[in-house]
Amino acid sequence: MIRSLLLKKYPFGEADELVVFLSRDMGWMRGVAKNARKSRIRFGGHLEPFSLVDLVLRPRKKDDLVWIDDSQAIKGFLGLRSDLAKVALASYFFEIALRLQPAEQPDETLFDFLVAFLETLETSPLNPVRFMLDEIRLLAILGYGPSFDLCPGCGIAIAKGENAVFSPSLGGAAHAWCAPESGPRPVLSPGTLALVRRGLQVRGDAAQRLRLSRKGVEELRAALSAFVRYLRGREVNSLAFMEKVDAWTRKKNTGRRDYDACRDP
Ligand SMILES: [Zn+2]
Repeated sequence: MIRSLLLKKYPFGEADELVVFLSRDMGWMRGVAKNARKSRIRFGGHLEPFSLVDLVLRPRKKDDLVWIDDSQAIKGFLGLRSDLAKVALASYFFEIALRLQPAEQPDETLFDFLVAFLETLETSPLNPVRFMLDEIRLLAILGYGPSFDLCPGCGIAIAKGENAVFSPSLGGAAHAWCAPESGPRPVLSPGTLALVRRGLQVRGDAAQRLRLSRKGVEELRAALSAFVRYLRGREVNSLAFMEKVDAWTRKKNTGRRDYDACRDP
């Protein structure tokens, strides 16, 4: 049995399904679930996106896919499926992991991080600050952690009370004169920088209590979105979708007080 997280599935041939999944021991893989579209019984309907499952795999001779012979559900994370913003966020994290992690390269840290992320996402109100800090952690696990302390251009700390510019090509918050990008550049104000530095030190309930002003949320979102698009080198579909459903600022999930009553320190 291979412990796996499912990302997506497509119709494949007459009756089969092609499943994209991250396995804990073998990294990203693609498998064919035979007759999955014809018979719901065989896979019990649990080959769904964001499910944690154990899979029985068998190599296929003709291509680089594997056969999925059997599956056993471990956890379905059904609680997040009814919330479009949470589904959008889960899709986004998985797309980052899929695009920035080479296929068939196992990473147990990445796998365990994504399982914990889904557990938190399912059970907690959607606090955008907390999940942007998790996004920074995810990028760090993948080897692309952006820096928010020292300017990556000159190595000197951003002075207290000073705005920084987020430079995707340097990979972090930089002095305005160090960032090579021209045109509109994401600005990070001192309160946003301080919150990120402090927030990266805390987890769990303490992270859930972190708050930024609406402006701060928008600054950090703009910086991370620019960075992920730069790393990908093209549009990131799930990010565009997340922006479309306004996953970060919808009042339904976050409550007005998150933005209006809590100001930057
Ligand atoms: Zn600098």
